[in-house]
Amino acid sequence: MGKTVKSVEVRTKDKTYKIFIGDLILHQIIKTRKEISADRFALIVSARIMELYSDNIKEIFRGVKNVEVFKMHDGEKNKIYKYAERFLDDMLKSGFTRRSVVIGIGGGVVGDFAGFIASVYMRGIPIIHIPTTLLAMVDSSIGGKTAVNLSAGKNIAGSFHQPHMVISDVNFIRTLPENELKNGLSEVLKHALIGEEKLLKILDKNDLKSIKISDIIQKIIFLSVLFKSRIVEKDEDEKGIRAILNFGHTVGHAIESMSGYKGISHGEAVAIGLKIETEISRRIGWLDNGEVSYVNELISHYNLINKTNKFNAEKIVEHMKFDKKNIGGKFKFVLLKGLHNPVYNQEVDFKLVMDAVRCINS
Ligand code: ADP
Ligand code: ZN
Repeated sequence: MGKTVKSVEVRTKDKTYKIFIGDLILHQIIKTRKEISADRFALIVSARIMELYSDNIKEIFRGVKNVEVFKMHDGEKNKIYKYAERFLDDMLKSGFTRRSVVIGIGGGVVGDFAGFIASVYMRGIPIIHIPTTLLAMVDSSIGGKTAVNLSAGKNIAGSFHQPHMVISDVNFIRTLPENELKNGLSEVLKHALIGEEKLLKILDKNDLKSIKISDIIQKIIFLSVLFKSRIVEKDEDEKGIRAILNFGHTVGHAIESMSGYKGISHGEAVAIGLKIETEISRRIGWLDNGEVSYVNELISHYNLINKTNKFNAEKIVEHMKFDKKNIGGKFKFVLLKGLHNPVYNQEVDFKLVMDAVRCINS
């Protein structure tokens, strides 16, 4: 019996590829898609996914010739240049060629790392992403960004390397811990606020439990993928409109950097960012009180912000000054001129930002 598969076609400058979305579709896609062809496949798989799904993965790739599994330990601390060199050496020793393909199976960390490996091995070989977290399905697997960390900082070495294909099998979401689900939901809410009205309606009608129902989560992923892909197609190199995807992230990144990327997830930092940047939009007169309350209610409804974390507003603003996008001490934001209408590159007065940031602990 065939499973329902949705697909989104993404047209980039040098290639067109498909993102497949569905429940328990991995086997079917791997078996039937002719574009999955290579002399050898390097399967870079998250160690946690191997623990949970090794039998399924073995079964799925049983009929595929010349597959070698490279296990990758999860966590940003393993997404490093030094390990990338080790993987590349191992691939060469194993006989991978320019006609080989990398397949990355895991969350955003594995996706970034596997994408980086594929983008540099013999000047670049194809990457197929199989994201296993909601965040990776709705965000990091789309857009072709790859990266590894250096001792000097996060994501410093990287490239744009558009995937050959993305397969988002929502079956993986069944084992995803709730905090990881929420991590992805912050980006979904971002997409809902800057673009997709249908997404906002789905978030409005559901809760943390019902959202995991197969049909609902598939729809959320499909709408998010469609939205982000259309933006990336218009601005692959991040020179213009792609900036709207940074909504919530000017503040979000400042919070993460202030916390040294510890004790707070990307999703929570983004949720706080969405709250504050929505408030800034209100203070300059672009959103009304009702719209702002609605956004705040959704954030509380999905419990996206851990109430016990208290933040120092002055420190957050201080960290925003280090952001490379805030050149010359001016603060630049993506703001909402009404829901679903983002405007990027908006300069905002220091005092107004400070006052809005002070709202976070309220
Ligand atoms: P993100 O996509 O949020 O960047 P990471 O790659 O950091 O995520 O993965 C977050 C955590 O979730 C890791 O500990 C990883 O092992 C785990 N993980 C990834 N996918 C699944 C899944 N489908 N089920 C259970 N745990 C998962
Ligand atoms: Zn993000």
